[in-house]
Amino acid sequence: MEIIKEFLKEPKIAYFSMEIGLKSEVPTYSGGLGVLAGDTIKSAADLNIPMVAVTLLTKKGYFKQEIDDEGNQIEIPDEWDPYTLMTPLPYRVNVFIEEREVKIGAWLYVVESVTGGRVPIIYLDTDLEENHEQDRGITHYLYGGDHAYRLKQEIVLGIGGVRMLDEIGFEIKKYHMNEGHSSLLTLELLKRYKRDIEEVWDERLVWDAESVRRLCVFTTHTPVEAGHDKFSYDLVKNIMCEVIPLDVIKTFGGQDNLNMTLLGLNLSDFINGVAKRHKEVSQDMFPGYVIHAITNGVHSYTWTHDRFKALYDKYLPGWANEPEIFVRVGRIPSEEIWQTHMDVKKELIDYVNETTGANMSYDVLTIGFARRATSYKRADLIFTDIERLLRIGEGRIQLIYAGKAHPRDHQGKELIKRIFQIKNQLGDRIKLVYLKNYNMDLALKIIAGVDLWLNTPQRPYEASGTSGMKAAHNGVINFSVLDGWWIEGHIEGYTGWSIGGPPHEPSDPLKDADDLYNKLESSVIPTFYDKRDAWIKMMKNAIGMIAYYFNSHRMMRRYVTEAYIR
Ligand SMILES: *Cc1c(COP(=O)(O)O)cnc(C)c1O
Repeated sequence: MEIIKEFLKEPKIAYFSMEIGLKSEVPTYSGGLGVLAGDTIKSAADLNIPMVAVTLLTKKGYFKQEIDDEGNQIEIPDEWDPYTLMTPLPYRVNVFIEEREVKIGAWLYVVESVTGGRVPIIYLDTDLEENHEQDRGITHYLYGGDHAYRLKQEIVLGIGGVRMLDEIGFEIKKYHMNEGHSSLLTLELLKRYKRDIEEVWDERLVWDAESVRRLCVFTTHTPVEAGHDKFSYDLVKNIMCEVIPLDVIKTFGGQDNLNMTLLGLNLSDFINGVAKRHKEVSQDMFPGYVIHAITNGVHSYTWTHDRFKALYDKYLPGWANEPEIFVRVGRIPSEEIWQTHMDVKKELIDYVNETTGANMSYDVLTIGFARRATSYKRADLIFTDIERLLRIGEGRIQLIYAGKAHPRDHQGKELIKRIFQIKNQLGDRIKLVYLKNYNMDLALKIIAGVDLWLNTPQRPYEASGTSGMKAAHNGVINFSVLDGWWIEGHIEGYTGWSIGGPPHEPSDPLKDADDLYNKLESSVIPTFYDKRDAWIKMMKNAIGMIAYYFNSHRMMRRYVTEAYIR
């Protein structure tokens, strides 16, 4: 087929991810993991890295978020039309699910870089007429349904994905699993490398795990035991029923449950966490494996507001494909940094006032908090002592919130409701808005337009976090708990401010809140209002020291030299 031919000329790195966030119009992502995958692919295209990505089509998306006046989240299917954005491919492969043959189709989207680099993404789709009605929906909803639904999706992604690449004619030199959702691909590879031995005295000898390992790279993103995808072997027996004998799966995926992380770890010869601290945490969780650290980054061009792009083009030409150039941020006059920031901030405040009627001010210190609404992120930590917050911040701060809770995350939904209650309690004394339907467009608007980016996760649950890196690309200062990437980017009072104790201390919510209030009162607010030059210096440090390093170009160069070419 013509349009795919150009991609078959040289061997590729196959990048597998359950979610990919390229832009708001393709709502096949839920949060940081998907956006990271999108940024990975964009940098691969910019850097001409030979890559093909594989994911699910999820044509009903994650969901569109409405919120009623009490803060109740309402979920609406986020249907989009693949025909307007992608090309259907004529290839078909099969997998077996509950002993039915399920056909998988594919759509092609090409990420094109101004450098001429092009990375194809294969979106797998079971919504085909040939399929049984109940199988057509397998690839509809990202993270929808129950365990069985998830396992079916992972069969399509991992096993179906490898078969599809083969069917199209790709030659693959590495398989990179972005989190455990795609680990079943290792089983398909085991089958492919099965040794042809006639008389076997030990059944396990026919399985050539070493050959599979040499082909596989595994990136873990989950710093807690409960976060890893696990399936009971009853479920596996009922649903998967083919590919590889169960005792072999147990050898690699765990005796009690099929643990997708363990499966990935056992069959990969390069394993990494997504920040240095996360590597340590993963190493403790999985002793006996060599785990490396490649700290995440964000795609600089995607996460820089148009007005800052123009400013960087003027003073730091070439920055987008060589973010190292940010090291010379000192060439940009301070007045222009501030003026550009104020232009971006006005756009955000106008948007907030138009959509919510909050009547926020351009000149008040504006704090942003937007990310998935889930309990470990502790969106309400800043409200631990509302009276104290009012004493410190009344009339001097305003707050912009956004974020979706997973449909089955009741605590996450309660968090949103609680912020709505606090909003009413604060009234006009501290203005607060909760913007609905957080997506990539809204993320850029908020991240670039606030003055201060707040992050208060419970340690060590923030494997990396990336939104603070996006903020820094726009000269926005981080105010964050020392966890994930911030441990590596933070210099107190220089690149931003920390909240709470040092990285290895367990989180104490009261102490964290106390520190947050102290610093807000004694450092953040006085610097913003009374020492504007010092504030702008910190904005420049954010650009020159954080954006300089925490970008996905640096990240991808490391994946190439440390994981892909070995
Ligand atoms: C960057 C991004 C995230 C990740 O934010 P964290 O604060 O790092 O968790 C989540 N959702 C969207 C839409 C994003 O753009």
